[in-house]
Amino acid sequence: MIARERLKSSSIEEAITRMMKQVRGSYSLVVMSPRKLIAARDPFGIRPLSIGKLGDSFVLASETCAFDAINAEFVRDVEPGEVVVIDEKGMRSIRSNCIGESKLCIFEFIYFARPDSIIEGASVYEARKEMGRILAREHPVEADLVIGVPDSGISAAIGYAQESGIPYGEGLIKNRYVGRTFIQPSQSQRETGVRIKLNALRNSIEGKRVVMVDDSIVRGTTSGRIVQMLKDAGAREVHMRISSPPFKWPCYFGTDIPSRKHLVASTNSIEEIREMVGADSLGYLSLEGLSKIEAGTRCGFCTGCFTGQYPMEVPAEEEKEKFERRHY
Ligand code: SF4
Repeated sequence: MIARERLKSSSIEEAITRMMKQVRGSYSLVVMSPRKLIAARDPFGIRPLSIGKLGDSFVLASETCAFDAINAEFVRDVEPGEVVVIDEKGMRSIRSNCIGESKLCIFEFIYFARPDSIIEGASVYEARKEMGRILAREHPVEADLVIGVPDSGISAAIGYAQESGIPYGEGLIKNRYVGRTFIQPSQSQRETGVRIKLNALRNSIEGKRVVMVDDSIVRGTTSGRIVQMLKDAGAREVHMRISSPPFKWPCYFGTDIPSRKHLVASTNSIEEIREMVGADSLGYLSLEGLSKIEAGTRCGFCTGCFTGQYPMEVPAEEEKEKFERRHY
C-alpha cells in the first residue's frame, strides 16, 4: 500500500500518512528510504514505539531496554498516529493521523514488555509489582512462600509478597535456553516446552504452602503442569494468583492467542479452572484492579481480551480464523 500510495505522493512520508488513513488495526513501523528513517504508530498506539538518541543520531525501538543495550538515551515515545521523519535535517513530526485517544495493549504491561522497559512514562517492573500488590489485597491467603512463574510472573510475585508480608523466594527455575511456550504452535510442542522450560526448586518449596503468581492463564494446560510440578516437589498447598483478569476473548491486533473455544476462561468458571489446574485456590486480578495502573501512565489501554470491547470495530471471530488460516 505504501508503494502504491507513493505513486500519488510527493514523499515517502506522505505515502505512509495516506496508507495510515486506510489501514485499520495495530502496527508500529520503522521504514527506511535511501535518505530517511521513518517511524509510524497506529492511531490508537496499540503497540509501543520509542525514540532514542545516540550521539547525534536518532534510534528507534519497540522497547526502551534496547536503548540501554547500546548506551542510547531515551527521548520520547512516538505518539499514537504520529509519523516521525528523521533525515539529515533532524527529526520532524506529522500528526494528521493523531486522534487524541490512546489504547495501548495492556498485555505489554502484563506480559510482553521486558521489566526494564519504560512505556508511556511508566516502568513495566513497577507496574507489574503494583499489579501484584493489588492482587494480594484482592485475594489474600495464608501461606509460607510467594513464588513467581518466570519471567513475567516474577515482578508481580514480589509485589504480592511485599503487600502480604509473606516471604518471597524462588520456587521455579527457568531453563534460559528455551523460548516462550505461549507462542509455540502445537499443543504437544507447548506441553514438552513446559517440562523443558521450568523445573521446581525442591529445597525451597518442600512442605510449604506456596502462593504461585503468574501473569495469565490461556489454555490452562501449562498452569496445570506447573502446579503438578510443585506438588511433586513437595509443596503442601499451591495457591494460584493471576496478575490479570480472566482471558476470555480473542485478540484482533497481532497477539497470537487462540480462538474462544481454546481459552479456558471463556467456557469455564473460576472454580472449574481451579479444579482443572489442580490448585488449592485460584484468584485473578480484577479489571478494576488492573485499570489502576493506568494512573501511572500517559496512555489509555485496550483490554479487549478481558472485556470483548475493542478500540475499533472488529470482524466476526470466524472471519478472523479464516483470515489467519489463509495467511499463516
Ligand atoms: S485484545 Fe488483548 S492482547 Fe489484543 S491488543 Fe487488546 S489487550 Fe492486547
